[in-house]
Amino acid sequence: MKFNTQVIHGGNSEDPTTGAVSIPIYRASTFHQPEVGGQAKWEYGRSGNPTRAALEKLIAELEGGQAGFAFASGSAAIHAVFSLFSAGDHIIVGNDVYGGTFRLINQVLKRFGLTFTVVDTRDLAAVQAAIQANTRAIYLETPTNPLLRISDIAQIAQIAKKHDLKTIVDNTFATPYNQNPLRLGADIVVHSATKYLGGHSDVVAGLAVTNDDQIAEQLAFLQNAIGSVLGPDDSWLLQRGIKTLGVRMRVHNENTQIINDYLTSNSKVANIYYPGDRRSVSFEIAKRQMRSFGAMISFELQPELDAKKFVNSLKLIDLAESLGGVESLVEIPAIMTHGSIPRDVRLKNGIQDGLIRLSVGLEDSEDLLDDLKQAFAKI
Ligand code: PLP
Repeated sequence: MKFNTQVIHGGNSEDPTTGAVSIPIYRASTFHQPEVGGQAKWEYGRSGNPTRAALEKLIAELEGGQAGFAFASGSAAIHAVFSLFSAGDHIIVGNDVYGGTFRLINQVLKRFGLTFTVVDTRDLAAVQAAIQANTRAIYLETPTNPLLRISDIAQIAQIAKKHDLKTIVDNTFATPYNQNPLRLGADIVVHSATKYLGGHSDVVAGLAVTNDDQIAEQLAFLQNAIGSVLGPDDSWLLQRGIKTLGVRMRVHNENTQIINDYLTSNSKVANIYYPGDRRSVSFEIAKRQMRSFGAMISFELQPELDAKKFVNSLKLIDLAESLGGVESLVEIPAIMTHGSIPRDVRLKNGIQDGLIRLSVGLEDSEDLLDDLKQAFAKI
């Protein structure tokens, strides 16, 4: 099946009991068991739920994996994946990942004895050099949040395999429409499904997918043991969102190319960060591993211009955290999504105080351009 067919007909798209074409919300915390000690398919709502299972099957198919797991948020999915490792293990982490992932690493996981080295995963020699005897995994985002940097997944997975490490990719920004890390050699993919997969800014959810039997078994155990599962209502909502992922991403991708062209021609813009920018050094890698470039674009204004004033002047494009919804959203990472990173670390990783991050929505591109133009006129 091709992508748009798969999002609609993949997973368990029909209810086996009634034939309903939309999988029902099975709002049950426990299930009748036919006999004591028998092998019932469904037992307890945390261990498994038919609505959640349909979603998990669907995301596994879309990512080309064999098992999917749904969590209460993207952060919960990332936490469960890091829980595969034990005190004393070492993990290499990309230097430009979601601020909340750094917070989880620095303020939670390190207290449990995991150790981390942060590297720029675009630099393969740096990745190689960071490997220690106790290294177990390489964790990265590509494109990254918020600088849209591209790392070569296939090359990193090759290095990882040579050293018996797991490659874990946060595929939130690309979505399975634009990129499939497992097909490039990664072992685990995680998503903040709160973003494009949900797509309507109305559900908080996380997903993890693997193509490795042993990891699948461990993740199933951890999902149940830690317990941060996605409820049946949100599992249903997420499946509804995913049905239109292909058509949404097509317009997201197109609108962002148009906005990139406009920003490129605007003399008030100093720098643009966008994987589809042909002038970018990583454009060739992006072209090789992505089908299109996604709908996140970050930029900096000329130094004398006021980024806050520009953002406050936008009328249609909403000032808000998050991304990936039908509506365009704008934010300043240094103050908002990445505010929990100490300023010196943030600057070292290239996130300037005035960096503006735009999540391009599905509005008519003419209206988005008009809004940007009137805000530029005010600064
Ligand atoms: N990964 C990325 C790339 C994100 O942008 C986010 C949230 O913004 C997360 C993970 C965390 O997801 P959630 O907010 O669903 O916990």
